[in-house]
Amino acid sequence: MSNDFKQYSKRRITIEALQWDGTIEQLDRNNIKYIQYNSSSEYEFCPRCSKNFKDVKHILLSTIEGNMLTCPGDFIIKGIKGELYSCKMNIFYETYSLVDDYYHEPVDDIFDPYDKFISVNLDLDHVELLHKSPLWNGIIGARTCYDSHKYSDTDSYSNKLGEKDKILLKNLIKIGHTSVIEHIYYTFRIKDVSRLFLQQLARHRLASYSVESTRYTLSKHLKNEQAFENISNYYPNSNLKRIIKYITLTGNLTVDNININQLNNIRNLLRIGIPQDIVKYMIPDALKTTIIWTINARSLRNFFRLRYDKHAHIEIRLIASEVYNSLPEIDKEILFSDIIEEKGYPFGECQKEQQE
Ligand SMILES: Cc1cc2nc3c(=O)[nH]c(=O)nc-3n(C[C@H](O)[C@H](O)[C@H](O)COP(=O)(O)OP(=O)(O)OC[C@H]3O[C@@H](n4cnc5c(N)ncnc54)[C@H](O)[C@@H]3O)c2cc1C
Repeated sequence: MSNDFKQYSKRRITIEALQWDGTIEQLDRNNIKYIQYNSSSEYEFCPRCSKNFKDVKHILLSTIEGNMLTCPGDFIIKGIKGELYSCKMNIFYETYSLVDDYYHEPVDDIFDPYDKFISVNLDLDHVELLHKSPLWNGIIGARTCYDSHKYSDTDSYSNKLGEKDKILLKNLIKIGHTSVIEHIYYTFRIKDVSRLFLQQLARHRLASYSVESTRYTLSKHLKNEQAFENISNYYPNSNLKRIIKYITLTGNLTVDNININQLNNIRNLLRIGIPQDIVKYMIPDALKTTIIWTINARSLRNFFRLRYDKHAHIEIRLIASEVYNSLPEIDKEILFSDIIEEKGYPFGECQKEQQE
């Protein structure tokens, strides 16, 4: 049935706005009329940002429609007639992008999302090799299969692999006789990674896992933290340093600030005594965790084949490259370098339909 509705699109208009950094100085400098919001209760939380009014300064912005509660991080927008109103940051970013003086391009579109993820997460050391068994373990397996122990040229004192044994292992890998390298194990500590990464890592069934439990650790530190501020950039300051203790940043301000708000929600509920076992249902996938991971060389080859690859999700690609870098040079050369050479540089845009 036809009707009179037609399709319209909103006209492109340019507006002026500033993001409130939470200081009175910024409001005064920009001639903004406001009154400070004072809460009478110790446990009154802002309905907009969920932060406790006692922890974080809020204002009532003077607008033509009356006073508007405004939180640090909110944008204050100037209308066509100079009237002011405030807007939550995530809604603002959904509607507006910054007009750059030179390019007239939305600034957010200039950077590849993968470059951003790497730039905000690369400076953290996530992987440490805690223990590994000697390559000799693989040689014992191989030499037993062919009853050729007498040809082994590995120094049994230092476990330093001889040239013949190196060639033997490489050849067995080439022909697919890889059960012999199942005797070589690696144990890693993988820290400051998201629970989203954990879900993907744990799909590798041929490995052993010990994971920090949110049931026992969630409230330990978070409960005693000050509320976290929303961020408007990734320059390190004390607020950002506290945030990256708890969540993996994505490099997308809207997503990261939603996760920061959820971190505040969790903190607030723990502080008023809601049990960890219940609050646990609210944790975002970005929440950080620590894993002890033990895997044998054959399964680790499978891991590199799948995850040191442009089709894998960016975080697991990043960690796969750190796992590889943490290995001794000799292990890399004999057991894994063929896969890494085949895969090449693992970063850059991947095909969306094949991402996990
Ligand atoms: C790019 C990418 C996208 C993905 N997308 C998704 C997705 O959308 N949804 C999803 O659920 N998973 C997804 N996965 C996970 C994937 O299906 C595997 O579960 C994961 O990569 C672990 O690999 P694996 O089974 O080889 O490793 P492991 O579990 O360590 O197994 C190692 C090897 O042992 C053998 N093996 C283990 N168990 C069995 C078994 N039961 N039967 C027969 N052989 C077995 C296989 O040869 C296997 O390769 C994705 C993975 C990648 C790399």
